[in-house]
Amino acid sequence: MRLVVLGPPGAGKGTQAVKLAVQFACADVATGDIFRANVAQGTELGRAAQEYMDRGDLVPDDVVIAMVMERLASQDCQAGFVLDGFPRTVAQAEALDRRLAEQGSPLEAALSFDVTEDELLRRLAGRAAAQHRADDAEQTIRHRLEVFAIKTRPLIDYYAHRGLLVPVDAIGPIEVVTKRILGALDGIRRPA
Ligand code: AMP
Repeated sequence: MRLVVLGPPGAGKGTQAVKLAVQFACADVATGDIFRANVAQGTELGRAAQEYMDRGDLVPDDVVIAMVMERLASQDCQAGFVLDGFPRTVAQAEALDRRLAEQGSPLEAALSFDVTEDELLRRLAGRAAAQHRADDAEQTIRHRLEVFAIKTRPLIDYYAHRGLLVPVDAIGPIEVVTKRILGALDGIRRPA
């Protein structure tokens, strides 16, 4: 399976991406997790990303695209992948399309998680308290939601035009949302 998972911060993408990667026996590639690990290890990539992450801004496209393209070349992605948190801009989506077209293995679906803004703010405040994520502080949360609306939401149309969009109601217990996703993916017509 080759999937991307789209949705605002707090929509539950990470939780569901892990489950989907297990279900489809493919790689779970979460760009935010890769950046956080690099920040923690003090790598050059971590240093390049940290100021953007702390502000709730997007890391520049060239940095993210290079990182993801390298990751997709690794062995565990040959069986497919669930991309969580990438693409977040049209330029990233185009770079992904180009790469997958070169490989002759196009994307199969773009899941779009639908959640109300009230629910997002509630979930993100809970996550800030539980996980001490600096970028879950309230002001930064609002900024991240704005960044999503401006830079990432256009990808919903981008994938809808390509017939790949699979919208999912992401409000409800985790297992219920997983079932909805699997049901929706069952219905898609897979490219050969
Ligand atoms: P996430 O855990 O997916 O919410 O990502 C945390 C932070 O990492 C984001 O707020 C961005 O600063 C950065 N980040 C993760 N993925 C991307 C991406 N595809 N493009 C740009 N920045 C990203």
